[in-house]
Amino acid sequence: MILLFVFAAAVFAQEPSTREMNDINWMEFREHVPRRIKTVLLPTGTVEAHGVVNNGADNTAPLALARAMAPKVNAMVAPVLNYGVTGSLDGYAGTFTISEAAYRAFVTDILHGLARNGFQNIIIVNGHGGGQTAILSDLAEKLGREHRVRTLVVNWWAYCSDVTLKIFGEDGGHAGWNETAFIQAIDRKLVHPERYNASMATARPPAGTWTAFPFPSSIILYQPGQGYPKFDQAKADAYFAAVTEKMAALVKETITKWDAAGLFQ
Ligand SMILES: [Zn+2]
Repeated sequence: MILLFVFAAAVFAQEPSTREMNDINWMEFREHVPRRIKTVLLPTGTVEAHGVVNNGADNTAPLALARAMAPKVNAMVAPVLNYGVTGSLDGYAGTFTISEAAYRAFVTDILHGLARNGFQNIIIVNGHGGGQTAILSDLAEKLGREHRVRTLVVNWWAYCSDVTLKIFGEDGGHAGWNETAFIQAIDRKLVHPERYNASMATARPPAGTWTAFPFPSSIILYQPGQGYPKFDQAKADAYFAAVTEKMAALVKETITKWDAAGLFQ
């Protein structure tokens, strides 16, 4: 009985009171990082129009995903980077963009801060595509070389496009069924089906055909005729769970391989 209690206390002591870097205090952070926790998840997004879900969907999604993944991969969750490099949707009401130069400088300092604080594995859970992906990958690689830390940048919706096909039986889109469902699983109050009609969606033009600024729709389908939002709660919940599972597996597998190869240890 006493042994059991000691064991339980030891396990308890190894779990931080929170995995949120915003919420933990410096004393507890010091006890856990990097001795017990060597991995951080940094959610990145932007503020841009998203059909009938919130303008901050690209922040809502990776933050919720990072929170769900953190205990599975023994990671802390860094504060979400709410502003980003918005592309052809910059022009819709309530949208923001950060210049590439400013974004690079800001993200570089944040990544250096994460390395300086002792994290060995820095995982960027990115919620916004376009030019932002290449910038993040470039900065993460530079950080890795300079600080000898391991970095991984993952676009959750692209990495999980097979999960989209499996759950919905069709491809998705920007603010399409998949992304709308992901937000619906996190907080259905952020979804407004009453404002939706199918004419709000446009298929992504094949490369080299046409471009428009601002893009005429904020729902951008990856394939013509597929990915129109359908607001199915059960599918939304299944999608969130399956994406979390696949993303956590990628992080775990990558760290296992980094360790096995003896990289930057
Ligand atoms: Zn989005």
